[in-house]
Amino acid sequence: MIEEKYLERLLVKPGKKLKLTDFYTGWAQSNALREAGKEAVKEQAAEILEESRAALAEAQELLWADKQYSILVILQGMDTSGKDGTIKHVLSGVNPQGCRVMSFGVPTNDELHHTFLWRFWKAMPRRGEIGIFNRSYYEDVLVPKVHPVILEEQQLPPGYGSDAFWEARYEDIRAFERHHHANGTIILKFFLNISKEEQKERLLSRLKTEKKQWKFSLSDLTERQYWSHYQAAYEEAIFQTSTDDAPWYVIPADYKWVARTLVADIIVRAISRLDLRYPEISAEEMKEIEKARIHLESE
Ligand code: AMP
Ligand code: MG
Repeated sequence: MIEEKYLERLLVKPGKKLKLTDFYTGWAQSNALREAGKEAVKEQAAEILEESRAALAEAQELLWADKQYSILVILQGMDTSGKDGTIKHVLSGVNPQGCRVMSFGVPTNDELHHTFLWRFWKAMPRRGEIGIFNRSYYEDVLVPKVHPVILEEQQLPPGYGSDAFWEARYEDIRAFERHHHANGTIILKFFLNISKEEQKERLLSRLKTEKKQWKFSLSDLTERQYWSHYQAAYEEAIFQTSTDDAPWYVIPADYKWVARTLVADIIVRAISRLDLRYPEISAEEMKEIEKARIHLESE
């Protein structure tokens, strides 16, 4: 497991304003790590990720058997920040039956005829499940905040785009998460924090690598021009919505192995804190099981 002190630094304390530039995006979060050297840290991270994957597979079985809680993992981040890869690597050992990944793109026409939270309600994980949101309702306080013109096409009542309008959206999100938490959903939110330089490298690699070209979208370049606007929108959204019940973690993401190891560790810890047990079998049920065994064996 990762030392608690490293995780504490990633957690956004409720009510505290943040500057994303205060968060580290690299692999050496401390002098101790720096002294150990990149290769040693990477090796250790790989071991921890492997352990976490196994622990997650086990924890998920328990979650499924227990059927009281669900886990919602929200992944947000700029284009190329590694959301898809993190999902693939962190969840690779988990039973697909108890796990659902939902990706959210530009809302459809039908979705736009409802309120912004509508499409997320039904996508929420059922009790016993781990749900992953690859992008989420947070896009609704990011993309249209950076490009207010988008709101004009959404048939919203007068007043959209004002400060009060955004305040109301943050409050809606807090209330949505409060409601789900109170009903047994453990919510973990990760912002994959990459530097602008690293994004440039990753976009270039997308353009130059044949197997990656399909991932490139021209909008990645246009949105990159709004980098500082997005950073500001993220800072505000994270500040407004990091709560004890649904905390935000700012994950250093310039190195994929760092981000994956941290995300996996934080999810495993959250499930372990639930202290789940397999359902107890009563003496009565035990007798039934025993009878069934004898019956089958005597066939
Ligand atoms: P990708 O994750 O590469 O498939 O891209 C999905 C795109 O949909 C991203 O550019 C998102 O910003 C965009 N998107 C997702 N949700 C919304 C939303 N509510 N409003 C506007 N754009 C959105
Ligand atoms: Mg994209």
